[in-house]
Amino acid sequence: MLKAPACSIWFVTGSQHLYGAKALAQVAANTAAVVDGLNASGALPLPLVAKPVMTDAEGIRALCRAADADPACAGLVLWMHTFSPAKMWIGGLSRLSKPFLHLHTQFHRDLPWASIDMDFMNLHQAAHGDREAGHLHTRLGLERTVVVGHWQDARVQAELGGWMRAAHGWAALQGARFVRFADNMRNVAVTDGDKVEAEAVFGFSVLAHGVGELAAEVAAQEDAAIDHLCAEYDQRYAVAPALRRGGDRHHLLRGQARIELGLRAFLERGGFSGFTDNFEDLTGLEQLPGLATQRLMADGYGFGAEGDWKTCALLRAMKVMGAGLPGGTSFMEDYTYHLDPQRPLVLDAHMLEVCPSIAAGRPSLEAHPLGIGGKADPARLVFDAAPGAALNASLVDLGGRFRLIVNRVDTVPPPAPLPRLPVARAVWAPLPDFATACAAWIHAGGAHHTAYSAAVDISMLRAFSSMARIELVEIGPGTELERLRQELRWSAAAWRR
Ligand code: MN
Repeated sequence: MLKAPACSIWFVTGSQHLYGAKALAQVAANTAAVVDGLNASGALPLPLVAKPVMTDAEGIRALCRAADADPACAGLVLWMHTFSPAKMWIGGLSRLSKPFLHLHTQFHRDLPWASIDMDFMNLHQAAHGDREAGHLHTRLGLERTVVVGHWQDARVQAELGGWMRAAHGWAALQGARFVRFADNMRNVAVTDGDKVEAEAVFGFSVLAHGVGELAAEVAAQEDAAIDHLCAEYDQRYAVAPALRRGGDRHHLLRGQARIELGLRAFLERGGFSGFTDNFEDLTGLEQLPGLATQRLMADGYGFGAEGDWKTCALLRAMKVMGAGLPGGTSFMEDYTYHLDPQRPLVLDAHMLEVCPSIAAGRPSLEAHPLGIGGKADPARLVFDAAPGAALNASLVDLGGRFRLIVNRVDTVPPPAPLPRLPVARAVWAPLPDFATACAAWIHAGGAHHTAYSAAVDISMLRAFSSMARIELVEIGPGTELERLRQELRWSAAAWRR
């Protein structure tokens, strides 16, 4: 399993010295109670760490510098328990590079109507202090997420948890390295893009290596390790009889096991978080990585086919965001349509590389001809995606800037068995409806490659796009095509650099 970075989120409460030491001690005690309560809620994917109450500009500058310097700090939660004059926050926040969430909450849920006095009102005045803070955040043009409500409310905790997941995915991209074996599929536009700009915007790098280097690593794998891995396949999947030990096509399974071991070794040694490949250049490999890629995705690696490094990086970030949640996340491709006017459906798949984390049942392991590439029949896992709510996300390069496009979909069981289609697939109905969703996607310039997820929700991708300061185009319930087309025209101006 590729580990996500070990991170925490800093919880920072703002106040000032106006109210005296006793009030500040109470603010600190309340902060500790909020942080302990949130950590105990079970709704947060990362630990919250309480920081000292901020009361002056120098302390805030030092805090923000420390947050930026600490790779384990994935972001900050800010809360103005009392009034905290916001000019004190300019020096720190205007230079802060970590994401932050503004939690607009209050220690007490209910007002003590019979006993409330001026001291109580002065102590619990987030209604007042958070507006001062929000004004400054807007004045400085700071991207952030705002969550409103009592901190013990399950909805508030879920929103905070979702943002923390986005921050964790963002942290996983900072300094991440992705390896690109061979180049882009020849003449394909959408999988290409500006890797220099991507490194500046998202913090990851894409490094090219020749397929020959991978082939050498694959060739160096030993038979004993391949035996061991094939035995694991037997346990985990419904392996076709011909692929099992003693079967006449067992060598094809061993070929994928050898590729998996070689790829894994290459990725681990290079400190890579994901990879791309291209069926047009498999020099020295006997098959296109199929099963190997599926299993590496299931272990948390990013992947993009045909040189698609943008989807690879997005998939890695979404793997981290969705970790531990029900439903999986996979590389995906919009492939073919069922145009029944009663319920049009999209069949998504790829030639081989769909992650078994989204499978409805136990995948079957089969080997079939690929039809392109001219190599041996690759072994691959075949399954249907689990039905339910999901989304497709596509990161595209519009030339000078990036756009994230997300379509919410309802994944359904295939209406009939597909006995002659030997690939993993997902069948879904896009929202709000097929014609609107497809037209909106095409107008927005969305790719045929996506990161598909039943674990990551739209709120996480909203927060992620905000952290990256890139445009997000949402297609889902309530989308009206002509209105969306107008938004695309306006955003072309708004996001121009
Ligand atoms: Mn493809």
